[in-house]
Amino acid sequence: MSAVDLYAAAAEGFDGRVSHAAAVLQSAALDHAGRIVQSTSLGAEDMVVTDLIARHCLRIPVATLDTGKLHAETLALIPRIEQRYGIPVSVYRPGHVEVVQFVSRHGERAMYDSIALRKACCGVRKLEPLGRMLTGASAWVTGLRREQSGTRGGVPFSEADDQGRMKFNPLADWSWGDVWRYIAANEVPYNPLHDRFMPSIGCAPCTRAIALGEDFRAGRWWWEDEAAKECGLHVKPTEGALA
Ligand code: SF4
Repeated sequence: MSAVDLYAAAAEGFDGRVSHAAAVLQSAALDHAGRIVQSTSLGAEDMVVTDLIARHCLRIPVATLDTGKLHAETLALIPRIEQRYGIPVSVYRPGHVEVVQFVSRHGERAMYDSIALRKACCGVRKLEPLGRMLTGASAWVTGLRREQSGTRGGVPFSEADDQGRMKFNPLADWSWGDVWRYIAANEVPYNPLHDRFMPSIGCAPCTRAIALGEDFRAGRWWWEDEAAKECGLHVKPTEGALA
């Protein structure tokens, strides 16, 4: 059974949520012309956002992070996006020297040793290249949804990040069923790992399939407490996860 069969669901107000998401993106593209980027994780939500950007011919360039630890299925989405929509995807990678130093000092499996080392790995492989991606930008676009986890329950459609940039979350009020209904209706390309019970996909060492009834993000950093489960990309300093 595919992820579309499993998750796509009709829900009242769907068309309105799609229109609103497009309106959020259109307004953001106008207000931040030339200084906005979609930071895509290549997950289902971000694929929907990329589809909306391309469908409405919005001037929001698409960029992603290749941490060096992604599944081959995730990386394969980059050329699929470029072919399907005719738009380039900029890829930001961690510094080679920094990765070599981190691995030689802490090992390839450091993320399992402590939360501090896991966050340090995210720092080297995600936060530093994200900082480069956002250099010069006044706004960025994400696929965050309130339903994704308790720590994301209050995600607004737009907010200032810790650097004073605007962060737009056009799918903030979408359900998981909405995401897959949109994907099915518009034949949006998606990661085949979603068909293998991985609703939330990150780096390969830090992602596992979930069992029936498990929480949406239970397969991410599953060995840690729920409160620690952010990589720092979407957590404000006041919440303590950027350290
Ligand atoms: S998700 Fe895991 S492998 Fe990826 S950067 Fe964070 S700790 Fe490292």
